[in-house]
Amino acid sequence: MAVVARVTGAGMDFIDLKTQYRRLREPINRRIQAVLDHGQFVLGAEVGELEQRLARFVGANHCISVSSGTDALLIALMALDIGPGDEVITTPFTFIATAEAIALLGAKPVFVDIDRRTYNMDPDLIESASTEHTRAIVPVSLFGQCADFDRINEIGARHGVTVIEDAAQSFGATYRERFSCALSSLAAASFYPSKPLGCYGEGGAVFSNDDELALAARELRVHGQDRGYHHVRVGLNGRMHTLQAAILLAKLDIFDDELEARQRVAQRYGALIEEAFADCAPEHVVRPPYVEPHNRSVFAQYTVEVPNRSAVREFMTSRDIPAAVHYPMPLNRQPAYAESDAGRSFPVAEDVAQRVISLPMHPYLNEGDQVRVVAALRDAVLRA
Ligand SMILES: *Cc1c(COP(=O)(O)O)cnc(C)c1O
Repeated sequence: MAVVARVTGAGMDFIDLKTQYRRLREPINRRIQAVLDHGQFVLGAEVGELEQRLARFVGANHCISVSSGTDALLIALMALDIGPGDEVITTPFTFIATAEAIALLGAKPVFVDIDRRTYNMDPDLIESASTEHTRAIVPVSLFGQCADFDRINEIGARHGVTVIEDAAQSFGATYRERFSCALSSLAAASFYPSKPLGCYGEGGAVFSNDDELALAARELRVHGQDRGYHHVRVGLNGRMHTLQAAILLAKLDIFDDELEARQRVAQRYGALIEEAFADCAPEHVVRPPYVEPHNRSVFAQYTVEVPNRSAVREFMTSRDIPAAVHYPMPLNRQPAYAESDAGRSFPVAEDVAQRVISLPMHPYLNEGDQVRVVAALRDAVLRA
């Protein structure tokens, strides 16, 4: 994701942060100036204010802001004392950070294949992957749509295994009327600039309803200390910067409005794609994202399936339409993780990774640009 925020086409951004800044220039500048004036650059008042507002937004008892989504995952796993000899079940179709946090602690990521329609972890496959060493399950709410938490939590509870939501792409999404980040024992959000709620650098948060896990996360974030220079855990320097909290506070004021705009943009894409491909032969049909009726996606990505992806992508680029592939290779294929799942196969993730392409997506995308994107997509698919 780090790279795609920079992809631009002629006048069209893959993710447009400049229009959002023009809208929020005054409150963002004011918030930043206040931090410069008070000078509490680490754990200033804005950090506590943001944590309260984020916890209230998702309906969780505790929010611990941290330095990135990756550190949020790491701290959540560390709060459970996960380490060498432990196994953590997750999905192979995600950004590398999900498995990286597990591996960094010396634990083993155990992949299970994904659902063909939502691309999220297939709950039916969890039990066959669990062993006496399994300590946690990390479902990813991919592209902004929550995984099937009722079923995953039920399996976790039955096996005494904790569920951690990787909510790096789903802050603001709902599952059966409940918010992402409040659906399991722990959740890890990211506020990387290109995520649905993004700061102007690195940022993330851990969420929990459990007082003990929240306290552990809070201590882990500051070198494992429970009071000044007294260390009860081996922790890290994982604090969110006050300036990032200040920026997020300004952006939170319009976040509900942006979530509605994301729905409108996604619906417009759906209608345009249906119309553009209505008369096409089955081998030329583009599959728009599938969202379960009980979910509201925040469309961190608007990802479609196309035939002959590499040719389609090349054609889109030649038309100056920014597009990106999330993700070209399942994690079990990544050289650094290849040993993690010797002998297991992930046919759905393998297949999907060959077909997906993400279109420009952000709350400020206008209809004219969407028409251009879908017209280029149709030409690309028919030629490819
Ligand atoms: C972005 C992302 C992360 C990591 O978040 P950072 O803030 O970039 O560290 C983790 N998991 C998923 C699924 C992501 O998309």
